[in-house]
Amino acid sequence: MNKTLLFGLLIIFTNCKILIAQTVDLSSVDEFFKVTSILKAGKSVTNEQWDSFDNSAAYRKYALRENQTFIEIIKSSLNIAYGKDSINERNNILNITKEEMIKNTTMLLKKRILINYIEVDNHYDSILIFRQTFDFNALIENAKQRLSSFIGMQIDSTTKLKPIYFFFVDADGGAKDDGLYIDFNLFFKQTDKQRINFLAHEFFHDFREKFENHDFNYKCDLYYILDMIQNEGIADMIDKSEGYKKYFSDVGESDEMVEIWVNLYNQAPSDLEKLQNEIVKYARKEISETEMIDELIEIVKFNGHHIGFYMANQILDAGYESEMLDTFYNPYWFYVLYNKSAKLLNLFQLSDEFMDYLRSITKGYYH
Ligand SMILES: [Zn+2]
Repeated sequence: MNKTLLFGLLIIFTNCKILIAQTVDLSSVDEFFKVTSILKAGKSVTNEQWDSFDNSAAYRKYALRENQTFIEIIKSSLNIAYGKDSINERNNILNITKEEMIKNTTMLLKKRILINYIEVDNHYDSILIFRQTFDFNALIENAKQRLSSFIGMQIDSTTKLKPIYFFFVDADGGAKDDGLYIDFNLFFKQTDKQRINFLAHEFFHDFREKFENHDFNYKCDLYYILDMIQNEGIADMIDKSEGYKKYFSDVGESDEMVEIWVNLYNQAPSDLEKLQNEIVKYARKEISETEMIDELIEIVKFNGHHIGFYMANQILDAGYESEMLDTFYNPYWFYVLYNKSAKLLNLFQLSDEFMDYLRSITKGYYH
């Protein structure tokens, strides 16, 4: 590796603290810049450098997985976006259609990650400066305040929230068991208000965990899905209250992703009905658990955001917002409140049979 380049990188990366108040970790962002600087200079990345990349806080999560698909997509996307000799591969991935993306998660990720990496390349220096100058501590405080006022509960400095790991992947963020994992390019593109709302959304998941019934959520896939719909639905009220179209357009999502989300939202009532029907068939023992889960996975694409957000919006419209927020960790009440709202608003209502089944499975855990 070129010594001047190495020296330059060293100055860049030792000048900025990687850990800020032990809450924000940027080591994977820094590794990304190291690897891409090398590729942009037309050099090849050494095994040692890839090891360092793999061991950085956020990428490590994926590098350690037995299934290497995700980390391999990340690395090949880096080579395609920043290496000079992958024009054919680049075009093949960029030509993946919307239909292929909906059907096949690997293809969806390949295209989304590559688009994101190409975008980072277009704003490379600005993102690097942003990384060095942004006040992360102020943002965290503002996001805590935002969540506090949304949920109507005090979230002060004594409330311990998970660390935030920034990295470059696809334009998204998620709450995992050990931390919040957020795409740094998405974060860069957002306005301050969007960043606060986005982080408050992720903090909501983290904060909710302190109230959830873990035994219920992790008992089986069905319970996990039922809970996830409430969890994402209410969280979307924090950052997507103006609707998916505005939110995803504002953060610079491609037209086809905006369309995918808008279509999902529009079909939420029929997806909710399908979800109910599959669960009722299972409750009647007409289908096996595996058959039901296979069907549900198809219906709750992208973690069931669209169904939960649709339900939460109807609850809001019907005037039950405070009841929804009082029971923000109790999935049973979310479905009850949705049904009360649907009755009031003349919308699709979940059947008594479904609600009886839901009551029976949540009885030992909630109410
Ligand atoms: Zn979420």
